[in-house]
Amino acid sequence: MKAVRIHEHGNVDVLKWEEVSIPSISENQVLVEIKAAAMNHLDLWVRKGIPGVPLPCILGSDGSGTVKEIGSKVTSFKTGDEVLIQPLTYCRECRFCEYGQENYCESWGIYGENQNGTQCEFMAVDEDHLRSKPDHLSFEEAAGFPLVAQTAYTMLVRRAKIKQGETVFIWGAGSGVGSIAIQIAKEKGCLVIATGGSEEKLNLAQELGADKVLNYKLVDVIEEVNRFTDGGGVDVIFEHVGAKTWNTSLKILGKGGRLVTCGATTGAHVEIDIRYLFYKQQSIMGSTMGDVAAFDEVIQLLEEKKIRPVIDKVFPMKNIRDAHVYLEESHQAGKVIIVP
Ligand SMILES: [Zn+2]
Repeated sequence: MKAVRIHEHGNVDVLKWEEVSIPSISENQVLVEIKAAAMNHLDLWVRKGIPGVPLPCILGSDGSGTVKEIGSKVTSFKTGDEVLIQPLTYCRECRFCEYGQENYCESWGIYGENQNGTQCEFMAVDEDHLRSKPDHLSFEEAAGFPLVAQTAYTMLVRRAKIKQGETVFIWGAGSGVGSIAIQIAKEKGCLVIATGGSEEKLNLAQELGADKVLNYKLVDVIEEVNRFTDGGGVDVIFEHVGAKTWNTSLKILGKGGRLVTCGATTGAHVEIDIRYLFYKQQSIMGSTMGDVAAFDEVIQLLEEKKIRPVIDKVFPMKNIRDAHVYLEESHQAGKVIIVP
């Protein structure tokens, strides 16, 4: 079979669409014929070099496909079933796993980061990582939500605990995680302010239900948010940008506000004025991936058609370098998908 694989870290030239052997399955595993995989910013970081990546490594965290073969102890799936893959890996034994907080697991990981991933033709997957693909979704759509939806849901529902009527500010409406976050916040009855850097991204945000959209390149975000909230600021900020947006985020966060972050794309070092933090009784919280129950709650929302994956563009896996350049240049409004 062929797979998107790196043997070393570096620029897009290290990406290979190359021949590897089809993995063999153990008794609790399923061999999935991958029909679609999604791109995430994680792919770019893994390519460029983060600790813990075993080389060579097949990239990709999200995937969907059909069951090609099952191990002797697999009971939930049969050959031909259409499935999607839950990307968080965990030990199943530590105290966090015991409490259903698998994303806090002492040896947690993600497919395509610390073990081989989904961007290939066949993948051996543990049975409990598979879910049935919702019938109304294409393989591309089914591959286009797991990692970002698990992340966004956990940030908003598990961590920030958004409530009906609250105002949620979302950076990066055009990103995969932003487009899902808008929908989850709307589904929970919140008012949503979303930002983006192009008309296309703002149109998408509006289409997904955002109550107010702001082009951060053209308007003064602080002024606009103050006007929209009568000077009170927002209740929740959905952060994944980092240093570039941090100061603005803190300035628009209201009393009792919660800032939840899952990323530092533009830099990791920021400043906090502690006086505002305690006077306004705010919380700043970190979030990474999501637990398995969060994944199932997201699938439930998809099944009920309350949220939907947003696909921007589909590339063939053999053109993986073009897909990396495209994602790196932030052209996308929704998810970038690759297919074998
Ligand atoms: Zn564990």
